[in-house]
Amino acid sequence: MEKQMVSLTVEDLQAILRQQQENFIAAVVELKKLDPATERKMKKEAEAADKAFHHRMEVLIAEEEGKKRRQTNCPHRMDNGNSPRSAIHRGQLFSDGKFHPICGECSKEFEPITPSMSELAGATV
Ligand SMILES: [Zn+2]
Repeated sequence: MEKQMVSLTVEDLQAILRQQQENFIAAVVELKKLDPATERKMKKEAEAADKAFHHRMEVLIAEEEGKKRRQTNCPHRMDNGNSPRSAIHRGQLFSDGKFHPICGECSKEFEPITPSMSELAGATV
């Protein structure tokens, strides 16, 4: 199966985190019905899984916030942020014939632009 790239906002991640928290509480309530030894074992496992999940989410949120911060303070914004031709350092020519610029500093992706011949000559295909 091909890997699918997803784009999540910090708000999305926080919503997932809240959902996970609710699932965890529901699982703990379920466990109350078990015998004490099994309950302890399963609770421990649930807590470990929950902790690992939270850690992963925190890392993701921190990365996402770091990216936003980099994009906010990036030199590409000196041009009011909207001039990919002057700001980008790399990008790709896609099969739609347009150049998809990406800021080399902060990885911000700009709207695709139709390249001029000289830009085409320097583009990475
Ligand atoms: Zn940038």
